[in-house]
Amino acid sequence: MGKLHFRALLLVCRPIMPRNRKPVIRRRSEHTISRKDIDEDALRVMQRLNRNGHKAYLVGGGVRDLLLGRNPKDYDVSTDAEPQQIKKLFRNCFLVGRRFRLAHIRFGYHKIIETSTFRRQPDPLADPSDPNACIMSRDDNEYGTPAEDARRRDFTINGLFYDLKDFSIIDHVGGLPDLKKGMIRSIGDPGIRFREDPVRMLRAVRFASRLGFRIEARTRKAILKHYPEIEKAAPARLLEEIYRLFAFHAGEPAFFLLWQTKLMSVLFPEVDAYVNKNGKDQAPIWRFLAALDSGEHWRGDPTPALMFAALLCDPIQKRAEVLGAVADRTAYASLVEDLIAPISQRNRMPKAARYRLIRILVDQQRLDAVLEPTPKGGRRRGGSPSRFVNQESFPEALTLLELRAAAGTADPQVVVRWNELASSVLREARSSERTDAAKDAAAKTRSKPRRRRRRKPRNETPRD
Ligand code: ATP
Ligand code: MG
Repeated sequence: MGKLHFRALLLVCRPIMPRNRKPVIRRRSEHTISRKDIDEDALRVMQRLNRNGHKAYLVGGGVRDLLLGRNPKDYDVSTDAEPQQIKKLFRNCFLVGRRFRLAHIRFGYHKIIETSTFRRQPDPLADPSDPNACIMSRDDNEYGTPAEDARRRDFTINGLFYDLKDFSIIDHVGGLPDLKKGMIRSIGDPGIRFREDPVRMLRAVRFASRLGFRIEARTRKAILKHYPEIEKAAPARLLEEIYRLFAFHAGEPAFFLLWQTKLMSVLFPEVDAYVNKNGKDQAPIWRFLAALDSGEHWRGDPTPALMFAALLCDPIQKRAEVLGAVADRTAYASLVEDLIAPISQRNRMPKAARYRLIRILVDQQRLDAVLEPTPKGGRRRGGSPSRFVNQESFPEALTLLELRAAAGTADPQVVVRWNELASSVLREARSSERTDAAKDAAAKTRSKPRRRRRRKPRNETPRD
């Protein structure tokens, strides 16, 4: 067959699954999703679209998580209504996106039900058989059928639909068996799908680590082949995905998988080199990330500074040891700044997070020095502990110290000492607050102006 014909055939055969294959439909009695488990605003959106003659399905992560018995993070709806039609039906609807208009239907301050019109995967203009051709999706704005909408999604487990009309699950892509097997499988040729959108490789890692699933062999092989292309993804999307890797207490397995799939060598080459030199799968960094995942050392979600600190603290420490900069506070601070600069630039880290990250890393030296004896007649290294405790960055710096202790790279006694100091500073502050309040109250009573008694009007006899 001539080369041209072969290429044309490739384009024609590109469909991910036979296009006219009938979807698998699971009736209500054959699956576990109950309407009661679905967010009521998402139900409202689908009901109104249905009542107005439109198809509307719950799609993506919402269906996947409900089938797994998990609480979905957010809900997405796909419909045959076009954006302007959606807008007419919902007063609380805002259209967003330049290339492909999406409807954001808002409920309260925080909830958005993202509602998109069925669309299809555009055929790449370039030849998919040419590994050097650029086939990154730029144009993703063609409306399509429900089946095409399912096939344009990233992984089979993310391509399932839930139909509120008859409570059935519709599977166009083989997501149900993969969900059962615990498998992350690309919809279509993973090599092409990852070249179209390299962020999908990070998403594969995220879902595998968050759900404890395996990445299917072909999909994994494609990541190992195309990992350098992750560099082509927009930095803002990458940073967002990196933050999401830490969510759901799955940072350690996620970064371990990033290392195994070589994505780490592009995203964090410094960390990758450190892991390879410092024990590989036994490197202390895995203990740092596991301690962060355990959630024992912080309340709420870890901040961006803490996430990056858990990732970079030990690599920086090892570098400082090599360069002999551990004992010298100024040398250590400038080393931290130098090492963070390319990482924060590459990841477009917001300035505030970068400053905070540098601060809590540099503060570790000061924290470590607390058990050192104060030199006779001299000043303690790092200044007064009580002033330090009152600094805004102290809680995060202390959390990082706790992570270091859990990872075995800091003395647990140092953590104990700082917690004692922090409590005593807090106690002092409370008691001086109480004393101040008492003084204020006393001062107020003393200086209270005496109220003049109004004299009773005398019963004077009116004069004539
Ligand atoms: P999460 O629970 O983290 O929100 P999710 O699967 O819902 O996971 P979203 O980013 O909310 O992920 O996206 C919703 C759905 O949109 C996905 O389930 C998937 O079907 C589709 N999707 C998102 N990003 C892509 C992408 N890069 N390529 C193809 N499909 C995508
Ligand atoms: Mg989602």
